[in-house]
Amino acid sequence: MSTQYIGHYIHGARHAGTSGRSQPVTNPATGTVTAEVGLANNADVNKAVAAAQAAFPAWADAPPLRRARVMFKFLELLHQHKDALAHAITAEHGKVFTDAQGEVARGIDIVEFACGIPQLLKGDYTEQVSTGIDNWTVRQPLGVVAGITPFNFPVMVPMWMFPVAIAAGNTFVLKPSPIDPTPALMMADLLKQAGLPDGVFNVVQGDKEAVDALLVHPDVKAVSFVGSTPIANYIYETGAHHGKRVQALGGAKNHMVVMPDADLDQVVDALIGSAYGSAGERCMAISVAVFVGDVADKVIPKLIERTKTLKVLNGENLAAEMGPIVTQAAHDRITGFIAQGEKEGAKLLVDGRGFKGAAAGEGCDKGFWMGGTLFDHVTTDMRIYQEEIFGPVLACVRVPDFATAVQIINDHEFGNGVSCFTRDGNVAREFSRRIQVGMVGINVPIPVPMAWHGFGGWKRSLFGDMHAYGEEGVRFYTKQKSIMQRWPESIGKGAEFVMPTSK
Ligand code: NAD
Repeated sequence: MSTQYIGHYIHGARHAGTSGRSQPVTNPATGTVTAEVGLANNADVNKAVAAAQAAFPAWADAPPLRRARVMFKFLELLHQHKDALAHAITAEHGKVFTDAQGEVARGIDIVEFACGIPQLLKGDYTEQVSTGIDNWTVRQPLGVVAGITPFNFPVMVPMWMFPVAIAAGNTFVLKPSPIDPTPALMMADLLKQAGLPDGVFNVVQGDKEAVDALLVHPDVKAVSFVGSTPIANYIYETGAHHGKRVQALGGAKNHMVVMPDADLDQVVDALIGSAYGSAGERCMAISVAVFVGDVADKVIPKLIERTKTLKVLNGENLAAEMGPIVTQAAHDRITGFIAQGEKEGAKLLVDGRGFKGAAAGEGCDKGFWMGGTLFDHVTTDMRIYQEEIFGPVLACVRVPDFATAVQIINDHEFGNGVSCFTRDGNVAREFSRRIQVGMVGINVPIPVPMAWHGFGGWKRSLFGDMHAYGEEGVRFYTKQKSIMQRWPESIGKGAEFVMPTSK
């Protein structure tokens, strides 16, 4: 049986690419290679950007309502195909099917938001800024914009970008993660069926070579990136150096503060779901529990029990709570961190390394499996506290008081998401106000903002000024133009040599 080849999508059609380079795509649950994905070279990227550039004038000129109608049709098709997309996510990423369905649903939210683009693009107008003169502003699309996305949300994160960008009148080149390349092509097919003109949405599969080609291409006007912090930093610097607008969302280390007055059953549920859901491979996963005062001793025994009894199963099994790790390399990195934590003196309460794939279901013995891992007595000088592990590892930190909890979070390099569990309104208010983190949950462990609010972290979790999607997304993908107008009847006689003022 020949291996399936996954290529690019340019000007409304599949394109095999010319690089001759490819890499295997693997089902993480079984370890089986299911396809080869092409890795684009400069020529492939240039072809995709040229298609997008050629499609731009007509698409930018289409009335916003017509563009919104394509989004409405796309929305309808997404509803019809949402489970197929979720199965494709599970097959290449490994996350459990119900979680993949949730991912698709959160992507659909953004498409719904983008359907409102005529309202979102409305400018403002001031009549009579001076006698006989009016002034107004409009927002116009940028041109070709690129999205570079991570493996962990192959549907939702591209949908943070392209629905808003396209609805605003831009054309788009998506460079998804080569680890799970199939959903991008499925979305391209649905956009075409929805009536999107060829060239408005293109996909180049690939790695650093494709990314670098996009970053220096003079026709790419803006780059949206989501991925790890070192790459986000590189994308921001390189893109800006080449004159592009850039938003680059990076890594995270999300804390959940547990106050002594919190509902402790809710705390246990929240920690288990947010630390081990999607095997911890979420940028909003909780990876640090911060226990204030003596609350740790009441919560940790329950956490141990729940971590040991997590249902770690093939993601296609509807009983699964946690699936496999995405790749062998990620598995090695995570087990390396667990060994590091032991060496640094943290107390290993539950060790996920002992979990064997055979227990996850038939055919899983060669997959990339581990169970949940729980550490206690983690301190801020340890690498397992400072660095992003991006796996099912929860670190418990004990602090004497609320002020120390806030301080350690504010001192951390990352500032993506954070949560505080309490019944005290004043603590909740102080926490929300003082915390140096972009997305805050009060008794909500994973506070991913809704489509119309926008998503983004602080500190080294986001490089750039604007958050993803929501009105920030509309601003990112458009530039403001101010128009000042008067008619010959109102123009006085003679040249004016002084700064015009209202008169
Ligand atoms: P990654 O940084 O390895 O890859 C992200 C993208 O960059 C991929 O498309 C990849 O092909 C490309 N890339 C990788 N190395 C590159 C290089 N040297 N030069 C140019 N491009 C390169 O991230 P990942 O492992 O796919 O995803 C996990 C990371 O993404 C985690 O750090 C996670 O926190 C982060 N993430 C952040 C958010 C957020 O909103 N802040 C959301 C999801 C994921």
